[in-house]
Amino acid sequence: MKSDLVYFKNLLEKNGHNFTVTRKKVLEAVLDSKTHLNVKELYEKVKEKDKSIGLATVYRALNIFNDLGIVKEINANGISYYEKKIFSGKPLHIHFKCFRCNSIIDVDSKSLNLEYLKLNKKLEEENNLEIYDSNIMFEGLCSKCKEELKNK
Ligand SMILES: [Zn+2]
Ligand SMILES: [Zn+2]
Repeated sequence: MKSDLVYFKNLLEKNGHNFTVTRKKVLEAVLDSKTHLNVKELYEKVKEKDKSIGLATVYRALNIFNDLGIVKEINANGISYYEKKIFSGKPLHIHFKCFRCNSIIDVDSKSLNLEYLKLNKKLEEENNLEIYDSNIMFEGLCSKCKEELKNK
């Protein structure tokens, strides 16, 4: 088992969850993915390797991973998308969703992330809060769709 997986196994077991073969496969599907996948898409990916897996099992596994902070759930139009949160190197980043092609994009340039952190700090200081997580999602047209519409 890769060292990352051993870490997740310990994390799950420490919190009273079994690190089953199926949960391992669901986790790997999220970790391997470069984009944000919803439950159905993750389910399809895991099913390629294990035909016996059920959608409910995938749901349950993702809920556990979300509770433990391993993955981050992003909600867009009532659909939950998941991305790796732990060790991702970009715990705070802004999302952009294209309403035409539905892709969700990470907006994570260095300077923007710095501004984002400043915004978090400001919120904390001015309102006496402690912020652990944040979800900012901008919506509009992605550059690809902008081009496509221009050429129509
Ligand atoms: Zn688009
Ligand atoms: Zn993201």
